[in-house]
Amino acid sequence: MRYISTRGYTASSLSSSGHTFTEILLGGLAPDGGLYLPETYPQVSRDELEQWRYLSYAELAYAVLSRFIDDIPAADLQALLARTYTAGVYCNGRSSAQASEITPLRWLERPDSARAEGGLAILELSNGPTLAFKDMAMQLLGNLFEYVLARQGEEINILGATSGDTGSSAEHAMRGKKGIQVFMLSPHERMSAFQRAQMYSLHDANIHNLAVRGMFDDAQDIVKAVSNDHAFKAKYKIGAVNSINWARVAAQIVYYFKGYFAATTGSNARQVAFAVPSGNFGNICAGHIARMMGLPIGRLVLATNENDVLDEFFRTGVYRPRAAAETCATSSPSMDISKASNFERFVFDLVGRNPAMVRQLWLEIDAGRSFDLSGTSFFARLPEFGFVSGKSTHADRLATIRRTFEKYGLMIDTHTADGLKVGSELRTPGMPMIVLETALPVKFEETMVEALGRKPERPASLQGIENLPQRVAVMDVSVEAVKRFIEQHLS
Ligand SMILES: *Cc1c(COP(=O)(O)O)cnc(C)c1O
Repeated sequence: MRYISTRGYTASSLSSSGHTFTEILLGGLAPDGGLYLPETYPQVSRDELEQWRYLSYAELAYAVLSRFIDDIPAADLQALLARTYTAGVYCNGRSSAQASEITPLRWLERPDSARAEGGLAILELSNGPTLAFKDMAMQLLGNLFEYVLARQGEEINILGATSGDTGSSAEHAMRGKKGIQVFMLSPHERMSAFQRAQMYSLHDANIHNLAVRGMFDDAQDIVKAVSNDHAFKAKYKIGAVNSINWARVAAQIVYYFKGYFAATTGSNARQVAFAVPSGNFGNICAGHIARMMGLPIGRLVLATNENDVLDEFFRTGVYRPRAAAETCATSSPSMDISKASNFERFVFDLVGRNPAMVRQLWLEIDAGRSFDLSGTSFFARLPEFGFVSGKSTHADRLATIRRTFEKYGLMIDTHTADGLKVGSELRTPGMPMIVLETALPVKFEETMVEALGRKPERPASLQGIENLPQRVAVMDVSVEAVKRFIEQHLS
């Protein structure tokens, strides 16, 4: 399997056939500013699909990912996946039988074929170490990085900025890994006590927390400035684990298969729908790829919060990224995005994989403008891709959290509530609707109290984590200070 850029770049002049998986694993954007994608999507036949139905999560991950990764020996990849997707990592205090499912499906309403009811379910993706679905991919990334670095005798120093979920997921995935140091910037005193504790209570020697006296955007700007200093970046082997990383998208494809099997075993449903709380388009991009591989997904329901740049595109054909000042802070904060970093991958497919067209469209986006595909043959073809969309507001979240608790006795977090709200409105007869759970409610206690008048229960392992000793270096908003910190901790 070879990888190409959405903007047309392919490897070197020696071969025009693109890169292998491990060649793009540690990198970010392609040199032309595009995103990497496989040159074709591997196809899974109905027969093969049925053979995968009863595989364990790790085995299923191998069946799916070995189609995308052909430069890691089979036995090594199998062992690596078996180490990654274990009940111990994804247990979150549950019984081992539940935990061994890794991503269990929970029916809210069971299918009822007599009434042509497909059923409504939640696919639990948040039982990893940081209680958000990002662990599903990040845990794999940690093991893949360690493996590839050891094989190449290399090291990497990951530099990132976080407003919460991604940073803690990355730190928990990379802690103790050989050849990897993590420098994670966060806005000083701007994250919840729980989020701070999840990051700052890690004492592994390779994890470095830097709290800058500013906002998330200041932290992000520092990361950009350091990464743009090419000499510094090369000397200190600076890398990233951001949401455009191809391996993260690839890892997420697996649970769409898992969810499909769980929802259709013992039922006569032929297709399923997924509702996906979306921000950077990474999660639902994996669903799109699963569908392109032949997984019978009838509908991909994209749910946004008040930051509805993606909902606007799927309704109107206009993609208009917002300015930072136009991006609102909501109670589903991990979806507060103004520009969807993975969206270019889908548009590449939508415009018939024409890199010249993508280059032209992103010339507008990179210049801070928008593009409009309404009235084009591309937009007319959108239904072929199965996408529908909707949005959800703070009031919708509160109402959905309340209704779900009253009706099904289940507490869901604010992001999952956005998905359930929009998914419930876009159900079709006979087709199971699977809502992806992207985080657990304990991460968003304040809004849960607002909705239900009480705090969600915490797993025993997380009780009192706010009181653990913390390790964090506080510094001013200064590129130089961050560079000095990195230098001091690498020599
Ligand atoms: C990251 C995140 C999302 C958005 O996922 P994308 O892949 O960026 O679309 C939704 N919910 C939670 C809890 C998240 O952490």
